[in-house]
Amino acid sequence: MSLVFDEYGRPFIIVREQDKKSRLTGLEAQKAHIMAAKAVAAIMRTSLGPKGMDKIMVSPDGDLTITNDGATILKNIKVDHQVAKLLVELSQAQDDEIGDGTTGVVVLAGALLEQAESLLERGIHPAKISDGYERACKLAIKHLDSIAETNSTDAREALLRTARTSLGSKVVSKCQELYAQIAVDAVLAVADGSDVDFELIRVVGKVGGELADSQLVRGVVIDKEMSHPQMPKELKDVKIAILNCPFEPPKPKTKHKLDITSVAEYGKLREYEKEVFIKMVQQVKDSGATLAVCQWGFDDEANHLLLQNDLPAIRWVGGSEIELVAIATAGRIVARFGDLSKEKLGFAGRVREVPLGTTKDRLVFIEECANSRAVTVLVRGGNQMMVDEAKRALHDALCAVRNMLRDNRIIYGGGAAEIACALNVADAADQISSIEQYAIRSFATALEAIPEALAANSGLIPIDAVAALKSQQMAQNNHRLGIDCSGAGTNDMHSQNVTDPLISKRQQFLLATQLVRMILKIDDVITQSEL
Ligand code: ADP
Repeated sequence: MSLVFDEYGRPFIIVREQDKKSRLTGLEAQKAHIMAAKAVAAIMRTSLGPKGMDKIMVSPDGDLTITNDGATILKNIKVDHQVAKLLVELSQAQDDEIGDGTTGVVVLAGALLEQAESLLERGIHPAKISDGYERACKLAIKHLDSIAETNSTDAREALLRTARTSLGSKVVSKCQELYAQIAVDAVLAVADGSDVDFELIRVVGKVGGELADSQLVRGVVIDKEMSHPQMPKELKDVKIAILNCPFEPPKPKTKHKLDITSVAEYGKLREYEKEVFIKMVQQVKDSGATLAVCQWGFDDEANHLLLQNDLPAIRWVGGSEIELVAIATAGRIVARFGDLSKEKLGFAGRVREVPLGTTKDRLVFIEECANSRAVTVLVRGGNQMMVDEAKRALHDALCAVRNMLRDNRIIYGGGAAEIACALNVADAADQISSIEQYAIRSFATALEAIPEALAANSGLIPIDAVAALKSQQMAQNNHRLGIDCSGAGTNDMHSQNVTDPLISKRQQFLLATQLVRMILKIDDVITQSEL
């Protein structure tokens, strides 16, 4: 403790001991870490599953985000604690790798740590717990593989089922079927074997209308309209000139100045401008183009000339959009009118301007493109928050479908797979003579946290529901029984069509175990200020 004085001579005390007190070591440190991680997991637990709650997040400048997506929630909350930050990264890792299951992985990690806490209290060394967890995780994954089923049904139906399960827990669940179709069609459109190029799927959100108005466009959507209201609203077999040079006469460079002193001179200048415009329009027409897509604008006179010359145009198309148009229509972006030629034009079977419902907004759809793999999902929703959440839900569904293409094995959702693994791992624990058996049994108990959370979120009594399921799964030797979240009257997840991709669940187990083992190994936190 030291007494110091500020610049006005007022005394104040710096208590160094208090600083030191916050440095925890050994068991105390591990318990503190577990507590922090449990707090994060508790936030996520209520968001799990189809009846999970949404969170509203307020950013420092007052922007709101409403979401149920684990990765997004964790990204938006301000976490100070070092270990809690690790959980945020855990969810992010699941998101990067798999794209779905970001809530479940945190809930599982929280449950594993909670179990570890009671093991630590019983005097079991963290290293033993860590080893036990690793062994248990291997057993669980082996069992997952053995209960995984390959889809024997129609491949498309299997993909749809996975997409539906992923969407079932999101705000878009009222349009679950439509979104599932969109996700599957979008992925199939860009898939090349099991390789899915997400770059070719563009998701455009447009506020207005309702979720049910969302649609998949096989091509590119530009948030613009034809430059003149009298230009045709629909074009067929379109050859597109993609221009990033302005439709305007060359301007004198900044260091030069043009003095116009008489009406005649002004008239001449106008004549010259008009000539230049006419030449430019003619150059575009000569190349064979029937539509000009320009990155820059042009004034009303040029617009009128374009109309007179029957050359429809779209102006102010953004840089990334113009690139997409070029990719989709297999055209080249041209930087000078003189460089335009037939080979550089893009091709689309149909270009149309589409009005959106009753609003004045219009979009241009460029469809039946030369490179037919590019697709756009147009997401509609009553407000920006709805559109954003729908985009996130769609991302999860797209990832789930992509994962199914990579590996078409599925396991049953609603906690069915976790209960099956819990039973298997608990069984294995009894046969292990070393102290690790406690950790292995705890791992099994932790797995039950997922069905418990699903049950609690659906208004059921978690312990009751899970106990009943465990005994049913044992008695019937049926790994398809899970929590009936939607009140369908059956626990059979096969008949409820609730399936998750195997690789997603496997990754959850692996990542959660890995993180928990890492946390258990930390027994000291040293921040630089204390050194
Ligand atoms: P995550 O972000 O981890 O994907 P979700 O909130 O999407 O979390 O919830 C996914 C969990 O909900 C999975 O365990 C899945 O099996 C389960 N689930 C989804 N739909 C249903 C349903 N209709 N009935 C029961 N469980 C479901």
